[in-house]
Amino acid sequence: MAQAGHRSGIRLGHILGIPIYLHTSWFLIFLLITLSLRTQFTSEHPGWTAAQHWTLGIVTSLLFFASVLFHEMSHSVVARHYKINVRSITLFVFGGLSEIEHDAPNARQELNIAIAGPLSSFFLAGCFWVIWRFVQGNQMVTAAAKWLALTNLVLGIFNLVPGFPLDGGRVLRGIAWGVTGNFMQATQIASSAGRLIAYLLIAVGVWQALNGNWVGGLWMAFIGWFLLEAARESFAQVALRDTLADVRAQDIMAHDIPTVTRDMAIDEYVHEVLRTGRRCHIVTGAGAPVGLVTLQSAKSVPRQEWTNTSIQAVMVPMEKVQMAAPEEPALSILERMQAADINQMPIVSDHHIVGMIGRDAILRVLQTRLQAGHLARS
Ligand SMILES: [Zn+2]
Repeated sequence: MAQAGHRSGIRLGHILGIPIYLHTSWFLIFLLITLSLRTQFTSEHPGWTAAQHWTLGIVTSLLFFASVLFHEMSHSVVARHYKINVRSITLFVFGGLSEIEHDAPNARQELNIAIAGPLSSFFLAGCFWVIWRFVQGNQMVTAAAKWLALTNLVLGIFNLVPGFPLDGGRVLRGIAWGVTGNFMQATQIASSAGRLIAYLLIAVGVWQALNGNWVGGLWMAFIGWFLLEAARESFAQVALRDTLADVRAQDIMAHDIPTVTRDMAIDEYVHEVLRTGRRCHIVTGAGAPVGLVTLQSAKSVPRQEWTNTSIQAVMVPMEKVQMAAPEEPALSILERMQAADINQMPIVSDHHIVGMIGRDAILRVLQTRLQAGHLARS
């Protein structure tokens, strides 16, 4: 389990109210697993027909992804039990990503949510092992059950590797958090362990590739590289959250609100922007705010029409402008800005615009705090 910043891919439907997505990379891995299963079944059971090899390859491959989904659902069920909302589950190359609303509030919950995944994989391995050993008579069922038992076992073990963001890294973070009482320090420990393991995988993979095992070695190095990126990214996310934790809109918003009137021509507006350096203005009509205009939206009009087009034509009308309250956390505003691809938001209190907040202002605070060694605090 890891946290994704955004959901992407094809929506499959809901399970227990959680939307399930398929990332486009899933199709590639589905194809690769199906092909390798078909090859394996062909060499182990040459007596079967080609249709049997293909069918069992596809069915086993689908059951593998159902297993991954089961693994992710088990994280989600435990998270839900602790009243942590799960936004979505996405299946992709290396398994699943659960997007949960926030990190667990304490070490024990973190540990339990993390350990649920590997335990569920071991549970499935056990179920398939029982089918493989004790269900007699159908070779196809036995062959599929054997592969699924072993694969779920490997999946469970791999996820227990103690490197963040793998489940084992979260377990490690939960333990370190319980011991040190410091979430950031615990994250740093788990994330360093993740990087160490990633470098090890890359080194062993390259060494294997150089010694003739090209496919296996490169695959291992690729997983290592992926883990390295994931460790870096999830640590950055945690650091971002921690650094901006107590910053609210009112702390960093600009109190002066640049305004322009709705009948101003675009070339005049561009002049205003160049004169003041402000790239975003509230548009007023009869003294009241009616919209928001930015340099970017003004530039969407061809230059030769700038003199005879008013900014009213390019502004975003007030009812469509995204706004924030003074108490809203800066992090949540930053996330909304990224999602909507905007750089400015008016701050509204009691139906009045009381300030403006820019993405650059939030990032400036972030940078200053990081440089000031804010991460060192507990
Ligand atoms: Zn997991």
